[in-house]
Amino acid sequence: KVGMNVQDLSKLLHRDTAEIIKKLFLLGIVTNQNQSLDEDTIEILAADYGIEAKQKEEEDLADIDRFFDDEKVNEENLEPRAPVVTIMGHVDHGKTTLLDYLRKTNVTEGEAGGITQHIGAYQARLDGRLITFLDTPGHAAFTEMRARGANVTDITVLVVAADDGVQPQTIEAINHAKAAGTPVIVAVNKIDKEGANPDQVMNQLMAYDLVPEEYGGSTIFVKISAKFGQNVDQLLEMILLEADVLELKADPTVPARGSVIEARLDKGRGPVSTVLVQQGTLHVGDPVVVGNTYGRIRTMQNENGQDLDEAKPATPVQITGLNAVPAAGDRFVVMADEKSARAAGEEREKRAREEVRNSSSVVTLDTLFNTM
Ligand code: GDP
Ligand code: MG
Repeated sequence: KVGMNVQDLSKLLHRDTAEIIKKLFLLGIVTNQNQSLDEDTIEILAADYGIEAKQKEEEDLADIDRFFDDEKVNEENLEPRAPVVTIMGHVDHGKTTLLDYLRKTNVTEGEAGGITQHIGAYQARLDGRLITFLDTPGHAAFTEMRARGANVTDITVLVVAADDGVQPQTIEAINHAKAAGTPVIVAVNKIDKEGANPDQVMNQLMAYDLVPEEYGGSTIFVKISAKFGQNVDQLLEMILLEADVLELKADPTVPARGSVIEARLDKGRGPVSTVLVQQGTLHVGDPVVVGNTYGRIRTMQNENGQDLDEAKPATPVQITGLNAVPAAGDRFVVMADEKSARAAGEEREKRAREEVRNSSSVVTLDTLFNTM
């Protein structure tokens, strides 16, 4: 181990310090018990005792991405989890209307007395099964999260108004879903409207490889009216069907990790963040590293303002207890203790600052170049 001194080494080898010092002296190295030894010296000395000294590979605590490896979950502990759905589509095609309808009619149990709050995500329920909706439908949020490496969406619901057809942001949404590799379910919306032409939407989308089953393709289309709730349950059914195909699973037994959906600074409560748990179970009191900050989960609430003690995979929760405001798309991981959470968080903050400094010098050069 780097930085090990004679005393540490003698303890490790179960020898007297005096004996070690003598041996080192015979090797031509003059030391005292507090002197730290370099790797080579330790190796030579250990070899003399017939022991192979190997430097333990330092774990980079700040590298929280390594916690996301699937290898770190136990195959035997995998349990089905709720699908995470993002709704996308052209402006005014009915994304917000659909999200609002779902929230009103399919909210989860026990919300009585709770105050619905917009925390960036919520869970809807159909036949006792949960579906997690991210309710920041902006394409920018989706791209920003993906740019930060957060691939939280399992299924994209593409809303296309039947009276308007495929529009620029419809195509943009298709491209985002393709880039993210998520299956697309098409919700042909506003079928209640006069002049609605769902068949035309289906025809248009074929040019983008979204071919309905009745035309020999594999894309699910549901004709809905988000405003009146027509066929919305059918849409949920289709989402669950798609989820079954994807066999979404997670291990609730490992230390929790996931991604930030949104975050802000609250005057009274400090940094408030909505996180989506992706593996493991998050508990109140857990020490966490989040993006470039850290903390200990002080409170945890669902979208109905209810306090929770724990949150299982695919559950969105609003948390407090962080030292700073993270960014949407930042990853979080629960650490073994508060000390390592702090160390990792501070190291990540430092590295981020260095990165900014390095990139800003590039910008300066660039700017200089452009003004020449
Ligand atoms: P967004 O921009 O995609 O979020 O679209 P909104 O949900 O804000 O909807 C835009 C407009 O379309 C609003 O005036 C909605 O009331 C209306 N709208 C949304 N869904 C439907 C629908 O199914 N039927 C009808 N008639 N109007 C709808
Ligand atoms: Mg909207």
